Amino acid sequence: MNTQQTMGRKLLAVFAHPDDESFICGGTLAKYAAEGVEVTVVSATRGEMGRRMGNPPYLNRETLAAAREIELRQACDHLGVHELKFLDIRDKTVEFIDEKLLIGRIEELMRELQPDVVLTFHETLGGHPDHCAIGKATTAAFRRYNQGALYFVSFGDMMLQPDKYGYTAGDIARVDVQEHLKAKLAAFRAHRCQSELMEWVWQRDDKALRNLGRYEYFIRGSQSKSGKDSLFG
Ligand SMILES: [Zn+2]
Repeated sequence: MNTQQTMGRKLLAVFAHPDDESFICGGTLAKYAAEGVEVTVVSATRGEMGRRMGNPPYLNRETLAAAREIELRQACDHLGVHELKFLDIRDKTVEFIDEKLLIGRIEELMRELQPDVVLTFHETLGGHPDHCAIGKATTAAFRRYNQGALYFVSFGDMMLQPDKYGYTAGDIARVDVQEHLKAKLAAFRAHRCQSELMEWVWQRDDKALRNLGRYEYFIRGSQSKSGKDSLFG
């Protein structure tokens, strides 16, 4: 994929918590932002129910939301994200809110932004109830919007063996993020209260970078003309 093909294109990533965007697919967001794609990140919640409060703990239930919002803004700066939006849903309650309203809000966002690519969680492989719920609502909104391409994020290299999850190699897109691992590491560090407990994040840069994989993997959620190595057709 060269810059000409991505320049002026738009990517919308809809996730549940501050840090989902960086920890799971920060390399991909940084890569496309660097190639001229306008990247918008939506976080359903501010992650105020997270168990990590810094190390040693310096936050509490009252201060966590504001701290995580600031950290997310800093992480987005490192990744080159253009815009950040919150849906102002309480952490750990995404699955309990009115689904029709949620789908409607996300569809409205899509119509406003006109993304070429939408990223979200898979509704059963999301790994956390908030992830699955926001993924399910975003998928339903995308079906109504019905433009561009939808992809589901996957964790680490789990999609090296797609058949384990009911998919084939043809359903998987692999993005080479080697050139953007420094931005991804900076985003991890920006989410300080969450990443402070991850020792590797705070090792010397060259050592820390070795913990980040060269590829990020996505499951196709729509028919798309994109190649195996790009989310953009
Ligand atoms: Zn999350």
